Amino acid sequence: MSQYVKRVLSDLIEKNPGQPEFHQAATEILESLEVVFDKHPEYEKAALLERFVEPERVIMFRVPWTDDSGKVHVNKGYRIQFNSAIGPYKGGLRFHPTVNLSILKFLGFEQILKNSLTGLPIGGGKGGADFDPKGKSDNEIMNFCQSFMTQLYRHIGPDVDVPAGDIGVGGREVGYLFGQYKRIRGAYENGVLTGKGISFGGSLIRPEATGYGAVYFAQRMLERVGDTVKGKTVVISGYGNVAWGAAEKVTQLGGKVVTISGSKGYVYDENGLDAEKIKYMLEIRASKDLGIEDFAKKFNLPFFKGEKPWGVKADIVMPCATQNEVNLDDAKKIVANGTRCYVEGANMPTSNEAVKYLQENGVFVAPAKAANAGGVAVSALEMSQNSQRLSWTSEEVDEKLKAIMINIHDSAAQTAEEYGFGYDLVKGANISGFKKVAEAMMAQGII
Ligand code: NDP
Repeated sequence: MSQYVKRVLSDLIEKNPGQPEFHQAATEILESLEVVFDKHPEYEKAALLERFVEPERVIMFRVPWTDDSGKVHVNKGYRIQFNSAIGPYKGGLRFHPTVNLSILKFLGFEQILKNSLTGLPIGGGKGGADFDPKGKSDNEIMNFCQSFMTQLYRHIGPDVDVPAGDIGVGGREVGYLFGQYKRIRGAYENGVLTGKGISFGGSLIRPEATGYGAVYFAQRMLERVGDTVKGKTVVISGYGNVAWGAAEKVTQLGGKVVTISGSKGYVYDENGLDAEKIKYMLEIRASKDLGIEDFAKKFNLPFFKGEKPWGVKADIVMPCATQNEVNLDDAKKIVANGTRCYVEGANMPTSNEAVKYLQENGVFVAPAKAANAGGVAVSALEMSQNSQRLSWTSEEVDEKLKAIMINIHDSAAQTAEEYGFGYDLVKGANISGFKKVAEAMMAQGII
C-alpha cells in the first residue's frame, strides 16, 4: 500500500477505536484505491482521502417508547450522513439489537461507492437503532417508529437525506415512519423515504429489487463465460427480504435454491424451493412469532440447528443475511465444493481474508456494493417517480433494474481490467465507484 493510503488507514483505525466493522470495510476499500492515488497526486494535496473516510455528519439520539404493558424503553437512534458529493445522502435504516456506530459507519461508507456505481445521483448514508423488532406487536413497532422519526425528521428531506429499509425495516416500518414525518412536517413529501407502500408513492419491484439485482449480476458473470443460471444449484443464507428476492429470481431462471437460513440455523431442500415455499418466506419474515425452524417444520425439511449452509455443495453461493457470515474456514469449504460464482447479497458478509482466499482459488466474487446495488437503484427510481409524479409498471422497473445491474457489472469488470487487475470485481467496483465521488469532491472545493 502507498505511504499515503497506509497513513490514512492507520489514522482511521487509531481515531475510531472499538469499531472493527468500520476498520474492516475501510481496509478493503482503501487497499483497492491505492492505484487511483498513484495516478492522482493532487488528491493527496487536497487531503481527499482524509475527507472521504470522515462522515460529513453523525447524528445520535434517544428513542423512548412505551410497550403494550405500559413499560417505557429507551433505544439509541443514529443517522450517518457520510458523503453528499454526488447527491443527497441515501441509505437504509436498520433496526437490530447489534446496531452500533461501527456497523452503521461501515454500512454508510460502503453505501457511498455502491450508490455511485448505480450511475444515479445519490450520496451515501445509513442509520438505524439498536431496537429489536422481533416479538413486538404492530402497536409497539408503530410507537417505536414514531418516536424514532420525531428525532430524525429535522435531519432528512427529499433533497437532503432519503432513508430506506434494511434489516428489521420493511414496508410496515417505512409506512409508520412516513406517516410520522408527514404529520410533523405538515407536507406530503413522499420523496423523503423509499421502500414505501404502492398506495403512497412506492415503486413496484422495490421489495424484490436487491435479490433480483444480485441474481441479474450473477447471470451477467455467468454470461461472460458462456453459461446461465439455468440448472445451477444455489446456496442462499437468510430468509429476509434479500434472500426472498434472490430465491424467487433464481427459481424463475431455472436454478435450484437448496438452502435458506436464519440466525438459528439453516434449512436444506434437496429438490429446491418452489413458489409456495418462497411465498412462505415472506410470512415468516413478517411474523412476530414464526422463525426459520417453523419453515423447516411446515415443509418437513431437515433443519441444521446452529449451523451455516456453507458446507452444502453448490454452483453459486449467495450470502444474503448479514455481515461477517463467511470466514476463512467457510471459504475453504466453498472452494472445496467447486463453487465458481460467489455473489454477496448482504453487506460485507465475507471477511477480507475469506474474499482473498476465494479469489485466489478461482472463485469469481461479486462484492456487495456492486451485486446488491439493485435495491438502492430502484429506490432512486422511486425518487424519480415521486418527483415526476409518475408510476412505472413492474416490467418497466424490472427492465431498468436489469440494465443497471449489467452496467454495474461491466463497469466494475472494465475498470479492473483497465487498472491491471484482470476480472477482479472487488477492486473494479471500489475503483469505479470512487472515481466519480473523488472527481465531484475535488470540484466542490475543501468542504
Ligand atoms: P431482513 O431483515 O429482511 O432479513 C435479515 C435476515 O438476516 C434474516 O434472515 C435474519 O435471520 C438474518 N440475520 C439478521 N441478523 C443476523 C445475525 N446477526 N446473524 C445471523 N443472521 C442474521 O433484512 P434484508 O434482507 O433487508 O437485509 C439482509 C442483508 O442485505 C443486510 O446485510 C442488508 O444490509 C443487505 N441489504 C439489504 C437491502 C434491501 O433492499 N433490503 C439492500 C442492500 C443490502 P434471523 O431473523 O433469524 O436473525
